[in-house]
Order: sequence, then C-alpha cells, then structure tokens
Amino acid sequence: MQKTFEERDLDLIWHPCSQMKDYETLPPMVIDHGEGVWLYDIYGKKYLDIVSSWWANLLGHCNKEINAGIKDQLDKLEHVIFANFSHKPAIELAEQLNEITPPKIRKFHFNDNGSAAVECALKMAFQFYQQGGKPEKKRFMCLTEGYHGETIGALSVGSLDLYAKLYQPMMMDNIHIEAPDCYRCPYGKTRDCCQCECFEKAEKAFAAHGHETAAMIAEPLLQGSAGMRIYPPLYLKKLRALCDKYDVKLILDEIATGFGRTGTMFACEQAGISPDIMCISKGITGGYLPMSVTCVSEEIYDAFYADYSEGRAFMHSHTYAGNPLGCAAALAVQKIFREQQVLETAGENAKWLTAEMQKAFGHHKNVGEIRHIGLIHAIELVQNPESKEPFAEAKRMGYAIYKKALQYGLVLRPLGDVLYFNPPLNITRAELTLAIEMAQQAMVDILGK
Ligand SMILES: *Cc1c(COP(=O)(O)O)cnc(C)c1O
Repeated sequence: MQKTFEERDLDLIWHPCSQMKDYETLPPMVIDHGEGVWLYDIYGKKYLDIVSSWWANLLGHCNKEINAGIKDQLDKLEHVIFANFSHKPAIELAEQLNEITPPKIRKFHFNDNGSAAVECALKMAFQFYQQGGKPEKKRFMCLTEGYHGETIGALSVGSLDLYAKLYQPMMMDNIHIEAPDCYRCPYGKTRDCCQCECFEKAEKAFAAHGHETAAMIAEPLLQGSAGMRIYPPLYLKKLRALCDKYDVKLILDEIATGFGRTGTMFACEQAGISPDIMCISKGITGGYLPMSVTCVSEEIYDAFYADYSEGRAFMHSHTYAGNPLGCAAALAVQKIFREQQVLETAGENAKWLTAEMQKAFGHHKNVGEIRHIGLIHAIELVQNPESKEPFAEAKRMGYAIYKKALQYGLVLRPLGDVLYFNPPLNITRAELTLAIEMAQQAMVDILGK
C-alpha cells in the first residue's frame, strides 16, 4: 500500500511547538494551496485561517500583488552577500521604513527572523554601554509573561514557563518585572480607568537595578504569546520616562504588533513614544518570507561608528540578512498600505467585530473576558467568570475546541484556554461572520451553551 502524505510527514518531520504524540489523534493537515483567508488541503477541504498562520499572514494568502512583487524580483536577483554589497529593494525598503517608524528610529539592521532581531537588539544595547564608558550596565529587564522568541538570549528575556523554564540553567540572569495583568488586576482596577498602579513594580526594579541595566525589552500594548494580554498605552509612556531617568535603552518588540495589527502601523504610536531599538518581523513581508529588522536610533548607531582599529563595529550577521526576495515582498506590502487604505478599513471592521464578538460570546457561561486591540480579539475561557478561576490545565479545553473548530473548517489554534482571532487586515465582514459562527459552534460542542 502506498503511504499517505500524512504518514510520510510523520515518518520524517518533527513539527514546531508540538507534542508529536498528539499527531496520532490529530494528523497534520496537508495544505495544497491558499487564497485570501482560506487554506485548501490536498482533499479539497478548506480552512479559514483566522490566526494568520502564526500572526504572519498580513494581507491574505497568495496575494496577487505580493506574488507579483516577488516574481519580478526573482528574475533579477535572489540573494547577495549583504556585507559590502547592497541592492535596490533593500535601499528602498529602508527608506520606506524610515518614513513609517517612530521619530527616534533612523538605522535599519536586517536579520532573517524575529528571534534573531531580538538577539541583535540585546547585543547592540550591551555593546553600546560596554564601549560607551558604562561597562557595569550588562543586565536586561523584561516583563513577566513576555515572549521574544526561542533562541537562548530571546528566551532569557521571555518568561513564559511553557517555553523557558526547563532551559533556565542555560540562560542569562535577567530582571523580570511583574507585567500588567488587566483581567486579573491585583489593584482592583480596570484597563480604561487605571493610572497603571502596577507600574510601581517597574519603579522598584529600576531603583534597585537601573544602574546595572543596559536595556529593558517589552512587547508594546499586547503580550501576544501570554494569551493576548492587553495593557494601556500609559504603561509604555511611563516606561519610556523611567528608561530615560536611569539611562536604560528601551527595546520594543513589535514583531507581533507591527504593521497594523493593533490598529496603528506600530503599537508604540498609541503611547506617543519612540523606542531606542525596535524589532520587526512577521507581517513585514506579508507573512511570505523570513525576514526581520532591528531598527535603531542614531545615538546607538553613532556609538559604533569609528575607525576599524578601534574595534567598535557590530560584528553580527545572518546569511540571509537583507534577502532581496524578502525585501521585494515587504515593498509590495508597503505599496498596498499606501494605496488601499488598509488601516482605515481594518479599523472600521475592528469596531464592528467587537460588537459581533460581544453578541456571539459575551453571554456564554465560560467566557471570562473578551479583549481586543485592532482586529485582534481574544476570548479568555474560565471555569467560573465570577471568580475568574481557570480550567484545570490538564483538561486542555482550548485544544479540544481547536480540534472541533478544525472539523468545521476554522483554524483557531489557541493559547492555552485563550481563543483568539488575529486575521489578515483585509479580511471581510462576511468572512469574519463565518469565523464567528464556526468558533461559536465548536465552543458550544465542547462546553455546552
Ligand atoms: C513571533 C515572535 C517572536 C519570534 O519571532 P520568530 O520569527 O518566531 O523567531 C518574537 N517576539 C514576538 C513578540 C513574537 O510574536
């Protein structure tokens, strides 16, 4: 008997972020092609990709304009060494990024994935102080529940036990500041009417460790992997001021939030602040190709600029840095943003979606909170909304609903018991309505009415 694609896959492939034994009951869905929000498997079954294939797909699968941009570049140049060499797509992309990134940002260091952009940012901040006369500044601060990628440095500034705990002995000794937790606010406040009382945790940490800290890293407004935890812009504003007070560089990880995901091009705009270093990836190429950029202020760049013999250069590289195909995809994405009012339409649809989500899920007995920013809408499921008591982890409620939703044709891959929509920005209301119906059905099947 001939083996199926699923069998051939499981024979050889170790999938990311998976307990492979789970694939015994949920074999991989082998996708043949995609179009817009839809993925089609080899049997012709279609799935609505409401999670944007790991938050990367920004403007639909096989978007005609992005496809054309890549195809055009493909016949000119596929890759070139990026040390000493350059190419038009990278130059134009840097110019366009310079237009849309916050005011302080002026220089663009290309890498090839999100974790690499974070590693790069940490090394830059460290080196900045090592050669800037403050060698005591060698530590990093970060928020609990944060996520910045899976490589050792990036894991060290993340604090999700699920990904990081086991590797503790391999990691840097960073300072983890208790993050805002607006759903279960320890100060009894709500997101709309607080003064970020929880910021006292950051103030205490800076008072104790600011002098030995090179940089503070955070995901602005949205801690994605933590379960789409959303906190107010005021927190970021305060963080910027605190970093200035203690001469600590502020690194914002906009890898998930960038390119319109939170309603503005970058989340930090909503707080009216500029980071010293900003990491971007995921949506930059529309989710087509691995690419990231570590964007930095002139101040940081200048501190590395000297005669070669002084040894101040940033000796960091990735083979595929500045890949022309990735740059061509990113340029096509930017063109779509400029010509098609993507943010405006997504903004209006987001408002509409908030009301629809409330109608569909707001009254369910296990919905603790529906939170949203931009088109991202997350539903935190709990055992008891009164006490906010979560379900026992072993029940894997979110996973059960995910499997059910797949049967209906919806990709609703959850974060624990947090179900979320993070669709491409050009999704239509009709498609969102379908997603709501399928999610609702899957939820009722597993949890009851
Ligand atoms: C996805 C993500 C990363 C890691 O990016 P990879 O390309 O997966 O290495 C880092 N930070 C945030 C906020 C992310 O969402």
